[in-house]
Amino acid sequence: MEYVFEPAPVVAVPVVGSEQGFPVRRVYCVGRNYAEHAKEMGFTGREDPFFFCKPADAILAIADGDTGEMPYPSKTANLHYEMELVVVLGKGGKDVPVEQANELVWGYALGLDMTRRDLQGEAKKQGRPWEVGKAFDQSAPIGPIHPKSKTGVLDKGAIWLDVDGQRKQSSDLSQMIWNIPESISYLSGLFELQPGDLIFTGTPEGVGAVVRGNIITGGVEGLGELSVRIV
Ligand code: MN
Repeated sequence: MEYVFEPAPVVAVPVVGSEQGFPVRRVYCVGRNYAEHAKEMGFTGREDPFFFCKPADAILAIADGDTGEMPYPSKTANLHYEMELVVVLGKGGKDVPVEQANELVWGYALGLDMTRRDLQGEAKKQGRPWEVGKAFDQSAPIGPIHPKSKTGVLDKGAIWLDVDGQRKQSSDLSQMIWNIPESISYLSGLFELQPGDLIFTGTPEGVGAVVRGNIITGGVEGLGELSVRIV
């Protein structure tokens, strides 16, 4: 079929130490997945995991060692960082048992679930959808993908974030309320997962605002660091 206009290019994230890009289908995000962050957002206890999505073209891919540039988005006065481990799926499935869920994982990346907290807060209050708070353009800065064949399965290790060299978030992957296989398994009951799906696995406590000129540097043990300047 001929198209009315040239389709947008496939969104892809570079793979570390390779010329290959990893094509992205969907971006799922887990909400409130670290107990201390759930508390700071006013929640307690182990509620069922919940998910929201960002469009694939909200990804801002940042090459290894680069400092990316994220434009300060419109219509907000409270742009928050959320440092997250991103799980990258190389296989799909539905109703995947927890014990098999890690077989879907192709690799891992560092990601920022950037959030217009004021718009998200208003949406929560009004019972409206979260897209304006979560799914805006370039709301998902992401570093290159590290294949699981090199990293092994990640289920523990430090996760941190600095703003202008000051530590703001510091936790451990083992502190997730729903661990990675549990999140994949639960999500696969709601949606049929496919190769190319990404899952942002939630952020630890210490979220906060950034302004133009700030440099965010976040990391996860074994995956290096991701650096973004707000412009
Ligand atoms: Mn998040």
